[in-house]
Amino acid sequence: MVKKGYFGNWGGAFIPEVLHQTFAELEHHFKTAQADPAFWQEYVDLMSTYSCRPTPLTHAENLSKHFGGAQIYIKREDLNHTGAHKANNVMGQGLLVKRMGKTRVIAETGAGQHGVATATMAAKFGFDCTIYMGEVDVQRQRPNVFWMEKMGATVVPVRDGSRTLKDAINEAFRDWVTNVDTTHYVFGTACGPAPFPEMVSWFQSIVGNEAYEQMRIQHGKNPARIYACVGGGSNAMGIFGRFLEEEGVELIGVEAGGKGVETGQHAARLCGNDASPGVAQGYRTMFLQNDDGQMLETHSVAAGLDYVGVSPILSDLWEQGKVRFTAATDQEVMDVLDLTMKKEGIIPALESAHGFVQAFKDAPEMSTDEGIIINMSGRGDKDIFTIAHAFDDPSWKEFIVQRAREYSK
Ligand SMILES: *Cc1c(COP(=O)(O)O)cnc(C)c1O
Repeated sequence: MVKKGYFGNWGGAFIPEVLHQTFAELEHHFKTAQADPAFWQEYVDLMSTYSCRPTPLTHAENLSKHFGGAQIYIKREDLNHTGAHKANNVMGQGLLVKRMGKTRVIAETGAGQHGVATATMAAKFGFDCTIYMGEVDVQRQRPNVFWMEKMGATVVPVRDGSRTLKDAINEAFRDWVTNVDTTHYVFGTACGPAPFPEMVSWFQSIVGNEAYEQMRIQHGKNPARIYACVGGGSNAMGIFGRFLEEEGVELIGVEAGGKGVETGQHAARLCGNDASPGVAQGYRTMFLQNDDGQMLETHSVAAGLDYVGVSPILSDLWEQGKVRFTAATDQEVMDVLDLTMKKEGIIPALESAHGFVQAFKDAPEMSTDEGIIINMSGRGDKDIFTIAHAFDDPSWKEFIVQRAREYSK
């Protein structure tokens, strides 16, 4: 028997009593929307007029030639409004909020990308918006905080615990419990209590549906492999979904290897040895935790992959052997960014570059009539501070110092 909200041994909804009614209501509206083709059409129309759907599938001819193996195709989620696949999830949830008749949205954010996406959605739909963000992240991600506030959101710095993402999630749940009648919690990825993993994956499935059609037209057949980076797992679920039942398509999830999966400084849950099954933040998955269930510190150059948990749907696919999981280190990511910018004039986000790393390792071993897709979850413009620092670019440093001088006058 399949337990409701579970994917094999994973998932569930471990929520406080006061939220039971709200979750039942959310589940009801989600299922009704799913069964209503008009809802999906409204979503597709919204995404094609407010974001940039369908996003193109780019044949990376120079990189393909460079490696001399598989034909490399890049699914361009970077061309969405606010620069990443996150727009798909927040706009979809926005339409649901409208259906539920609620007037206020809250969200957690780590790097700030989900906060910015939620703030744009709230502005467009006219909802009140509060974003919870660890105090450390508020300091690290000033440009995103700036934009959230400019779009009318209230950003609340969270001072508990390690003052990062998981503390922001706890605080957002506290808010929700107090304000259930008016408020919807826009969860940012395919994690958390049911129905969030399934619901977020459903909105993101628009990515794989498009890629399936585009690959038939541009490559004449299915890809042999599909690569996606895995933080919480939403962009991976988005591109994998349509291909899960297709014969001969291998799916590869790439986690943050940080300084190396043997160093303890990483966020590799499904491909390393540091994660174990546990229940936290309302769901059961593989968590990076110690023997007492204390969450471990994670590290990645890509803030969006720096998370202790992972989608319960991916834990299930991992357990069933339906998705291969690997990791890319910070250094590998920087090398691949350099090559991709020079060869194709494309700037992947640090997160997305993790998928590129594994694709570039595999492509040379494949034949020239095979195709692979890399899901480029977002654009790298947001990472200019980190990338310029990693490349140790002297003129950039000078620019920052000059700017600081102007401000301190
Ligand atoms: C947030 C983010 C991710 C990680 O989220 P998933 O849910 O794992 O997709 C990946 N790439 C980009 C560009 C992001 O902004």
